[in-house]
Amino acid sequence: MAKEVLVVAEQVDGIIANVTLELLGEGKKLAHKLDAPLSCFILGHNIDSQVDRVIAAGADKVYVADHPELAEYKTLPYRRVIIDEINTWSTPPHTMLMGSTTSGRDLAPRIAAYFETGLTADTIELDIGPYEHKAGVDKSKIGYFPECLYANRPSFGESLKARILGPWKDPQMATIRPGVFPLPEMVSKPRSEAAKIKNVEVKLEESDHRVRISKILREAGSKIDITEADVIIAGGFGLGSIEGFKLLQELANCFENSVVAASRKAVDLGWITYPYQVGQTGKTVRPKIYIACGISGALQHRVGMQKSDLIIAINKDPDAAIFSFAHHGIVGDLFHVIPEMISQIKASKKEPAFA
Ligand SMILES: Cc1cc2nc3c(=O)[nH]c(=O)nc-3n(C[C@H](O)[C@H](O)[C@H](O)COP(=O)(O)OP(=O)(O)OC[C@H]3O[C@@H](n4cnc5c(N)ncnc54)[C@H](O)[C@@H]3O)c2cc1C
Repeated sequence: MAKEVLVVAEQVDGIIANVTLELLGEGKKLAHKLDAPLSCFILGHNIDSQVDRVIAAGADKVYVADHPELAEYKTLPYRRVIIDEINTWSTPPHTMLMGSTTSGRDLAPRIAAYFETGLTADTIELDIGPYEHKAGVDKSKIGYFPECLYANRPSFGESLKARILGPWKDPQMATIRPGVFPLPEMVSKPRSEAAKIKNVEVKLEESDHRVRISKILREAGSKIDITEADVIIAGGFGLGSIEGFKLLQELANCFENSVVAASRKAVDLGWITYPYQVGQTGKTVRPKIYIACGISGALQHRVGMQKSDLIIAINKDPDAAIFSFAHHGIVGDLFHVIPEMISQIKASKKEPAFA
């Protein structure tokens, strides 16, 4: 089997997660560049209906492993089935993508370790391109590689974007968080003219059953999901204290479907809880309006909100990094600017639409 771009699907209660569709959309671009098919590996039980969804999202080939033991994600059975299937191919896939979710982060390193290949976690951009390795301690690595997976991600400490390459061994692997790429356009196709579908043989061993799920308890959906909001009012260290979030909530109340969110620093200080964190280690959001209040604009924050339709930044430091990518910037003290915004929005709502 020649080069392939393989997306390992994630399903919850038998429904393919959006992150899988997002990866198929982005994987299609990589597959075009490689002139290779885009494949999707679905594991679950009674999941036949989901095959059409991944085909609609762009998959040219679908591997379906349907078995009662695969109904819920479990590390060892999932690992076994994927590795066993790939081992029947003449070569592993060129690229392998998974969601940077709880299960994706658990599964991806195990597959990478088995194939003794590299894995880039929390990737924010993907591409295919050449790389020439000219020197190094390991001379066997020197060479020209025309088709490498470029996996870009923020580097640790500093605000830099690093391109991670591992062209020496396939599959070249990356995990990507939900929301980083847009959902692709879904184009339904009759199966007869659509993708090639392969039913994968599931052969589990006794050692794969070390973990048994006795009960699944899902948390009641009382928490607001910041990824669903149209307007986000985000606060950072510049708020000075937990009290600052009351002012942000007042501003949020001026908009429909709005929510307050935060930088990691505000979360680390305990001013707001983790589900409200935006950024590399928080959530990726794409609201219609994102108002960043007292947030400096570190890369780790930026990657979680830079695809918002309209970014407005309020910061008292005119040199704050956030002004370099915000659509509108207000240089000033947020404790003066926000009350003024609130009073102007309220006043504009009182004015008749047609004077
Ligand atoms: C591996 C790793 C992962 C990370 N993940 C994330 C992540 O997911 N999300 C995230 O946000 N960060 C993340 N970070 C942290 C990130 O690097 C920054 O430290 C963090 O985003 C800074 O938060 P901040 O902008 O609130 O604070 P600061 O950088 O301290 O900025 C505060 C800003 O407020 C302004 N300000 C102060 N007072 C006022 C005022 N009265 N009015 C107006 N402006 C004012 C200041 O000028 C300053 O620009 C991560 C870091 C690492 C190393």
